[in-house]
Amino acid sequence: MLRLQRKRDRLLSRLSLTLRAMEAEPREFTYAGSARIFSWYDVRDSDRLQCRCGWSGPIGEMIVEGYNELVDGSCPLCDQMLMIRSFPTVDEVRVAAARGDSGAISDLQHFGAKGQVEP
Ligand SMILES: [Zn+2]
Repeated sequence: MLRLQRKRDRLLSRLSLTLRAMEAEPREFTYAGSARIFSWYDVRDSDRLQCRCGWSGPIGEMIVEGYNELVDGSCPLCDQMLMIRSFPTVDEVRVAAARGDSGAISDLQHFGAKGQVEP
């Protein structure tokens, strides 16, 4: 029984390390003729987008405009809209946090203190 618990702990530890490594690795999305649509936790600010004009960079360097329920991000060189990212619902924050998304865990603690999600 103890041996099984140790084996399970080792596997969980390895899985946790793998998930953290995956979370740390930025991904690259190429422009495919229209703005890509993401839910909030589908992408991170470090993920990169490529524009048809040749610009490539992290989401954090894009020109971002916020609206009530979403933000859009455009190329800083040619202003082509490259992504639309919708703000999370409370349930989406909870699901992403349960999955181990560090941003969602932080958001959940922040929102939890206020008792509600605010845009
Ligand atoms: Zn561009």
